[in-house]
Amino acid sequence: MAYVVGLRCRECGKEYPQKGVHVCEVCFGPLEVQYDYARMKGKVTRESIERGPRSLWRYRDLLPINAEPRAGLYSGYTPLRRAHHLEKILNVRELYIKDDSANYPTWSYKERVVSVAITKALELGYHTVGCASTGNLANSVAAHAAVAGMKAFVMIPHDLEQGKVLGSLIFGPTMVRIQGNYDDVNRLCSEIADKYKWAIVNVNLRPFYTEGAKTFGYEIAEQLGWKFPQHTVCPTAGGTILPKIHKAYQELIDLGLVEDNAPKIYSAQAAGCNPVVEAIRAGRDLIKPQKPKTIAKSIAIGNPADGFYVVQAVRQSGGWAMDATDPEIIDAIKLLAKAEGIWTEPAGGTTLAAAIKLIASGRIPRDESICVCITGNGLKTTEVVADQLDMPTSIPAKLDAFDAFIAELDGAGGTRELEPLAAGGPTP
Ligand SMILES: *Cc1c(COP(=O)(O)O)cnc(C)c1O
Ligand SMILES: [Zn+2]
Repeated sequence: MAYVVGLRCRECGKEYPQKGVHVCEVCFGPLEVQYDYARMKGKVTRESIERGPRSLWRYRDLLPINAEPRAGLYSGYTPLRRAHHLEKILNVRELYIKDDSANYPTWSYKERVVSVAITKALELGYHTVGCASTGNLANSVAAHAAVAGMKAFVMIPHDLEQGKVLGSLIFGPTMVRIQGNYDDVNRLCSEIADKYKWAIVNVNLRPFYTEGAKTFGYEIAEQLGWKFPQHTVCPTAGGTILPKIHKAYQELIDLGLVEDNAPKIYSAQAAGCNPVVEAIRAGRDLIKPQKPKTIAKSIAIGNPADGFYVVQAVRQSGGWAMDATDPEIIDAIKLLAKAEGIWTEPAGGTTLAAAIKLIASGRIPRDESICVCITGNGLKTTEVVADQLDMPTSIPAKLDAFDAFIAELDGAGGTRELEPLAAGGPTP
């Protein structure tokens, strides 16, 4: 059953049919997908969702597609984990990690938006897809386009991590490195979308694409036993995921599927690119564009398309915002790995570091439930920790050499550090 009815301008309300447009021709406002929520009532239920596949498509009734899903059949439904070790270390009562570093097949939250965009592109008759990307989106578009048998053109800034570049190239797209930052790439892609009539997933298919991010929020609530964490800390780049988590929570409340406990949402950015955090701190709606300078390249967007809606969602939910310096980001990456066995990229380090600072400053109370959104995988960004870790000692393949190695470690107090913390429990 499809409940999507069309597109509507968020600013002036003008309505549009479902097609590859993203800005209002009257007022240039962004377009948003409209659903028939009244018709969903009583039909879209906890049970109807639980009967669905173990992928993001279990929420298809709440997504803007009319035909069958054509991409991402194995994407989404990533782990929500109780983080017992971090709870002890940070002295908080109830902490969860929503872990999209394990999202299949390219290990970031972008599988969610791309699965919906590619399905919609095929529904609308496109044969070629593209994107403007800070890396993860390019990986995901390239992989899903390969499965769907579509042509893919992916455009990235020229200075991305090698893991992100190879992580797209392997799938065989046409890839172009643009001499500029993400905002330059994005501007060029708007012109390309107009001229070449391709489905640029985050430009002309943006209204459909962004809806896929709601599944991150639905999953948090369902996996918590149809409850919301009281505090959700989420990274911000272009500003897609945060407002869509907010929208997902609101939809679940409106449909009567989850009780409203006034969940608060917090935006995390790198200190070297923090236009949204700055606006929230200053009590401004207006985002002042910046030139990014941070190791957190996947979230280094100085002029976020939906920054205003992040500010709105944070404010409406009663949340706040926090940034983290590059050294804080690296420390948080290492902490998450050692405490919980999750290797995230700098975007995840930013989010955990921001959460830690929000807890330390008293913005997030220690005795309330907290969810930290991990959106990408550290294996793609090995550069950022390579010089932080000591290369292992090399010894001959002889037991006495190993004995000598252990004696030296004990002398330095080395093995004592490895004492295990108390065992963690399963996700509720
Ligand atoms: C794209 C991305 C984000 C968030 O971006 P938004 O544009 O704000 O949705 C966060 N983390 C990672 C790893 C990303 O690739
Ligand atoms: Zn308008």
